[in-house]
Amino acid sequence: MASKRQIHVGGVPIGGGAPVVVQTMTKTETANLKATMDQIMRVAEAGADIVRVAVPRDEDVEALRTIVRESPIPVIADIHFNHTLAIKAIDAGAHCIRLNPGNIGGPDKVAEVVARAKQAGTPMRIGVNSGSLPKHLHELERENSVEALVTAAVEFVELMERLEFGDFKVSIKSTNVPNTIASNRLLSEKIGYPLHLGITEAGTRWTGSLKSAVGLGTLLADGIGDTIRISLSTFHAEEEVKVAWEILKALQLRERGPVLIACPTCGRLQFDMDTVVTEIERRLEAYADPIEVAVLGCAVNGIGEASHADFGITGAKNEGLIFSRGKPLRKVPQDQLVDVLFEEIDKYATSKKIDVDDAQAAEGAQWLARIEAENADELTPERLAAMEAAAADDAEADAALVTVLKSAQPRLGEDASPTAGRRFTRA
Ligand code: SF4
Repeated sequence: MASKRQIHVGGVPIGGGAPVVVQTMTKTETANLKATMDQIMRVAEAGADIVRVAVPRDEDVEALRTIVRESPIPVIADIHFNHTLAIKAIDAGAHCIRLNPGNIGGPDKVAEVVARAKQAGTPMRIGVNSGSLPKHLHELERENSVEALVTAAVEFVELMERLEFGDFKVSIKSTNVPNTIASNRLLSEKIGYPLHLGITEAGTRWTGSLKSAVGLGTLLADGIGDTIRISLSTFHAEEEVKVAWEILKALQLRERGPVLIACPTCGRLQFDMDTVVTEIERRLEAYADPIEVAVLGCAVNGIGEASHADFGITGAKNEGLIFSRGKPLRKVPQDQLVDVLFEEIDKYATSKKIDVDDAQAAEGAQWLARIEAENADELTPERLAAMEAAAADDAEADAALVTVLKSAQPRLGEDASPTAGRRFTRA
């Protein structure tokens, strides 16, 4: 169930129907002001709405004063074990305090922090982690870890309510994806406060991104979760932000920059699409419009599956087609596909109109019709072999292809994208 209540961290609304907020955490020593501010600038540039910094010592609180002043996005102070540091972080101007009421030294110390937070108007995130449940829940944790996590979270919420404090969000985190899903589902039925979602210690860029996409994606698709952090074992916090955005974009919860869709390639591919897609992805990073760009490895299925894309390319051996919203725009030589695609995207970025040259569009449509006609029947291995044999006779086409492959830079190496066993080579 979606949260009913809304809080504000700095100027950023969280919960109560606000867009899902992307946050990350710096990995630098907070007291190292330059390194921390450099990382904050990078994560803000990558699209973080909020950033969290660890505050384990007094020197980190000192740095926090400057960080709060200079950061382009709100700053959350992450506190464990020491309620005095939490109070000092509030006094330093932190936009939010994250603490686990279970490890801060008892309800009296939580009450002291809450009193100062109320005075300063500082919201809090109260968290429960699967590794740090209160002792009285350890037996329940052994029997039913989801129940134990939710019980701990509800107890902390009740403590806040007894202290007449409602300016907080709640997180339940676990390294276990099914437990994270089940406990957040259950918690969302029990409380109306905003929920922060994350998978604890999710892992490397590869495994951590997948676990987070599965766990957080499942909850977000159900409408549960108001702010997310992807925890990845990388020093580059901006990677966490990029993954968070991809999850939100995939669920169409928020828009940020272009969406690239690309076919997985198969035995029909006859050009170095891996290099082309990598180049397109790199160039698209410079664009802010939420356009959809499609890359199809061949035109045997027409452009039907990508007909919703704002722009797309489909390639053949030495020619390709630029298309837009299901209609051909121009046929171009293979080596010009990427440059011409970006010419069209740039024209659109300026005029917000798709520029169609009727003659070129007709030529492109003719080319596409020919490819589709050639592939009207199911593509049997025999037919593929026949096509390959015909193509092999076309020495001129092969020579052109070699020239094309040599001229386009930069190309992926064999380690990144092997060509062995595929229908093209990479010079
Ligand atoms: S678009 Fe063509 S190359 Fe790509 S997966 Fe489909 S059939 Fe294969």
